[in-house]
Amino acid sequence: MSLIELASGKAEEVARVMGICNACRYCEGLCAVFPAMEKRRVFDQGDVDYLANLCHNCGACYHDCQYAPPHEFGVNAPVALAELREESYQRYAWPAALAPLFEKNGLWITLLAALSVAGFIAGFVAWHDPAVLFDPHVGQGAFYRLMPHNAMVTVFGTVFLFALLAMAMSLRRFWVETGAQGSLDGTTLWQAMKDAGRLRYLDGGGPGCMNSDEKPDDTRRLYHHLTFYGFLLCFASTSTATVFHYGFGWEAPYSWYSPVKIFGVLGGIGLLIGPWGLAVAKAKRAQAVKSASASGMDTAFLVMLFLTSLTGLALYLLRETPAMGLLLAAHLGIVFALFLSFPYGKFVHGLYRFAALVRHAAEERKP
Ligand code: SF4
Ligand code: SF4
Repeated sequence: MSLIELASGKAEEVARVMGICNACRYCEGLCAVFPAMEKRRVFDQGDVDYLANLCHNCGACYHDCQYAPPHEFGVNAPVALAELREESYQRYAWPAALAPLFEKNGLWITLLAALSVAGFIAGFVAWHDPAVLFDPHVGQGAFYRLMPHNAMVTVFGTVFLFALLAMAMSLRRFWVETGAQGSLDGTTLWQAMKDAGRLRYLDGGGPGCMNSDEKPDDTRRLYHHLTFYGFLLCFASTSTATVFHYGFGWEAPYSWYSPVKIFGVLGGIGLLIGPWGLAVAKAKRAQAVKSASASGMDTAFLVMLFLTSLTGLALYLLRETPAMGLLLAAHLGIVFALFLSFPYGKFVHGLYRFAALVRHAAEERKP
């Protein structure tokens, strides 16, 4: 038991493991966690949450550890940090009442939300005029025959703004409670952006991430990059479409050579391969470095990204066929559920990890 009161058994386990690591220090060259740990003698709740989110779960420190099970110390830093990291997503969520809803059954709740919205859109349109749902539509404004542009903006803008607000509130709490206030300046931010952009600490100290056996490689980093940059390209596609619509009056769908399509197709391919690869790598990962409490939101996030991309690309390929109506309804339902799940699931790991990297960059610059 830690001398400082911590919020949970998982936080106490991280404090215990970090206490042993601080005496050992064998792994100090592997990642940012160990240098950050060495700056502390005791670990409060903010410290353990910070270290948990600084860990990239490469697994190297488990395979290198002379105190790992069956040693009586039972040190398993990747699992202890991963379990606390998952717990921290719930602890800092805003509003707190919504967090438990997604905690255990994240995948099913998100799929149910997607199906409900898709079913409502398709049912509403078919009830008014089945031809609108099942007839082919071509040319500018074809998508808006299914759902008027203003209705689309109102519904999706509202859920997106709610997700933004919830994530901003959660990030602010994490930032303050992990003691990161005052760390923000241009040099620190740039260092953290470089570390996040190339996943510097997912390399196990150089050779790569530990996956299904003790042979390190870079496959998880590759899939993570495909997912992250695929997501950014899809965001760029949507943002460009918004500028085209409001700035120039050009309505969707756009031609294949428009930046909207090029960003969207490239991003969509990244979001098909990346989440698929991450899910396969996760399934094959050595049991010893897998968190037993992995919440459904981890899988839900990968599944929803994959489905968003799949329906988006199918819509692009089949937009002039009678399948367009149902595909658009499915795509909109999935995007709605994805937005809704952002603040309560795996998406926030990117925000908290970035905040932890900023704090680490600031600590490293201190004399
Ligand atoms: S993980 Fe094990 S080997 Fe590495 S610093 Fe901690 S106790 Fe030492
Ligand atoms: S990033 Fe890798 S080496 Fe560092 S604490 Fe996490 S699992 Fe261990």
